[in-house]
Amino acid sequence: MKKKITALCLMILLTLSYSISAFAAPKTMSDGQLFDAEYYADNNPDVVKALGSTEEALYKHYIEHGKAEGRLPYADAPKPSSSTKTSTSAPAVTNNRASSANQNKTTTTVYITNTGSKYHNAGCRYLKNSKIAIDLADAKEQGYEPCKVCH
Ligand SMILES: [Zn+2]
Repeated sequence: MKKKITALCLMILLTLSYSISAFAAPKTMSDGQLFDAEYYADNNPDVVKALGSTEEALYKHYIEHGKAEGRLPYADAPKPSSSTKTSTSAPAVTNNRASSANQNKTTTTVYITNTGSKYHNAGCRYLKNSKIAIDLADAKEQGYEPCKVCH
């Protein structure tokens, strides 16, 4: 009889923890530790596979193993001090050649020189001395003609 009631309580607890974890916010556990079961399950599929995705099982795992293994209890948790890994995100590389080579847009940038009457592509050798960016439509309007070398 007592066993049946315990099982019922457990079921209610499980249902409750499921609805709580749906908020995806860290919860303060009985010992004061913040823990987000949903986050922990998402980021530790190996644990879910082994123990299931109940908050109880996940939290037990975190306390007994996860903490020592450097797993995080919730999304914004401070990283364990032992981990000195720095993010190595590559800096954004601006590719000028790629953007100026794009001739399919309605506004196409070409280049004129101080002295010449032709307009050029960015890489043209005639642009060695001066290189003034101008819209293709404007260049035509101002009487510039396409360079024979690069057009
Ligand atoms: Zn040219």
